[in-house]
Amino acid sequence: MEDRNAVFQFLTVLALSVLMWQAPEPNGAGVRTGTLPRIWRTGGPNCLGAPEWEIHEYNSDFFILRESGCMNYEKPFLYLLFGRDKCFLIDTGAGQTGVARTVSDLIDKWAAQNHRDPPPLIVGHSHSHDDHTAGDSQFKERPNTTMVPLSVTGTAQFFGIKHWPDDLGTLDLGGRVLDVLAIPGHDVLSLAYYDRQTGVLFTGDSVYPGRLYVRDFPAFVASTERMVRFTEGQIVTHLLGCHIEQTRTAYLDYKIGTQYQPDEHSLELNRGSLLELHDALSHMQKPERLALRDMTIWPVVEKAETSAGQGQ
Ligand SMILES: [Zn+2]
Ligand SMILES: [Zn+2]
Repeated sequence: MEDRNAVFQFLTVLALSVLMWQAPEPNGAGVRTGTLPRIWRTGGPNCLGAPEWEIHEYNSDFFILRESGCMNYEKPFLYLLFGRDKCFLIDTGAGQTGVARTVSDLIDKWAAQNHRDPPPLIVGHSHSHDDHTAGDSQFKERPNTTMVPLSVTGTAQFFGIKHWPDDLGTLDLGGRVLDVLAIPGHDVLSLAYYDRQTGVLFTGDSVYPGRLYVRDFPAFVASTERMVRFTEGQIVTHLLGCHIEQTRTAYLDYKIGTQYQPDEHSLELNRGSLLELHDALSHMQKPERLALRDMTIWPVVEKAETSAGQGQ
């Protein structure tokens, strides 16, 4: 018995050594890496002198803009991605800010750093709610700028989505391709974008650490399923949504309308959260509010939404 144990142990150690010898070196899965901040300045406690936008450089071709809570309690996130030929902005923010100027400054800086002219800008959206589109009018006047139409037909046409919402669309920025998924449910025009370069999936207001307001429940379930299927076998570094409403305490969110969130959840979620959401939805007999660890499924009816200000 003793002998057999010794042989077994020897074989185990041998097998582990071989496995370790064969294991690949860490390679980051081949995606382009970037960093996310540990905390965001969220608008407070003092607003005097607080900048309208906090800008974070994920890497030299990918910028995240977060609106200050001092400007609007929604504090949405915007994303600016650069390819070889064009750049792409997702959303234009809430309320009145100098968002076009801020984005133009960033594009100019990027161009200077890359010793070239500022590239053409495409402005698209995560969806059509006004806390993500309030700055649109500023971009309509900006030269060298194309706006993706804020309609299902126009959006489908722009990204080449043949059959909405089942088919995939794409956007090629030049050496950088994004896959575009129609994910209605929170809004009829909800979209997710998958950046093949960084492995980031942008999920808008459909998946983020906070209250996932669901207007069309069957569509939301189907869209979650679509994202799960799309990401199967795919490298997903982060899910980046458009808000943070969750605290760092499990299951606990900030109140609607909170301007200053010193203990907020990280912006990034991962594919596990998507699977958790999918699992919870598939066990739900009928639409109901359900708190998960990092987000809450929150069905809304149009009437309640206007009175409670839950339209976003
Ligand atoms: Zn929103
Ligand atoms: Zn929304």
